[in-house]
Amino acid sequence: MICGIEMGGTKTVVAVGTEAGEVKEEHRFETTDGPETFERAIAWFREKGEPSAIGVAAFGPVSVDPEREDFGSMLATPKPGWEGFSIRQALLDAFPDAAFGLDTDVNAAALAEAGKLSDVVYITIGTGIGGGVLSGGRLVHGALHPEFGHWRPVRAEGDDFAGVCPFHGDCLEGLASGPAIGKRWGKEAKDLPENHQAWDFETHYLAEAALTLLATVSPKRIVIGGGVSQAEGFHERIEKIVRERAGGYFPVLEQGSFIVPPRHGQQAGIRGALLLAMQAREG
Ligand code: ADP
Ligand code: ZN
Repeated sequence: MICGIEMGGTKTVVAVGTEAGEVKEEHRFETTDGPETFERAIAWFREKGEPSAIGVAAFGPVSVDPEREDFGSMLATPKPGWEGFSIRQALLDAFPDAAFGLDTDVNAAALAEAGKLSDVVYITIGTGIGGGVLSGGRLVHGALHPEFGHWRPVRAEGDDFAGVCPFHGDCLEGLASGPAIGKRWGKEAKDLPENHQAWDFETHYLAEAALTLLATVSPKRIVIGGGVSQAEGFHERIEKIVRERAGGYFPVLEQGSFIVPPRHGQQAGIRGALLLAMQAREG
């Protein structure tokens, strides 16, 4: 039995899936603290059978390096009941024989969206901005894991908003996340009309992000998901700006469909968790 868990800020998704990463059955419940959330996940899996592998798509910050002793533990976070909680230990105690895989939610989504491509970036724009990177067929980790939302972009002309990131003010998340748009314009992103200036700024920042990624990790595709990305014409507009600013420098832009919505939609994260389980089982 291949199992996946996608931890979300508000909802947790658990699923049983196929070896190809397809969801056979899933269940959602409210995310509370670490121990309680995993107790509920474990109870649901027990009802379904005996897991042979479990993959977790986790929110950060989380230790994602299998070489480290604290692999699978939640790091310093203001979320009550999560700091220091070991996801790996909780699952190992319940299912000692199951293989264990874990990565960030956005890395998991990058894996699910990649298909046969070896180099893909996944960005989500919702309450925060997160980025996952598949490079040369491997999910990128480093000292921690990519935190692309906290990169600082070149300002859009006429934008002097201070930004909402509690750590950096005007990083990408501080300028372009859902809460940033809400504070900047006094209206939720979903309620802003297509021709509102907010979308000129928003597409500027995401185009800057895409250009920076093109010049650094060199993806073959950038997938942008999350609530804010559902705005009308979002991906096409960003791709057009990227092409104008790239100066003909990046051949990958010639083929089109470089910046796309997730083909698995809301399921990208949980499908990624199932693929992480498969990778763990194959060692
Ligand atoms: P979370 O990070 O909590 O999962 P979501 O990915 O659901 O958040 O994103 C929520 C944000 O997306 C809110 O700021 C909301 O205004 C915005 N949003 C939702 N639907 C749309 C839409 N169709 N167009 C633009 N923005 C949207
Ligand atoms: Zn920041």
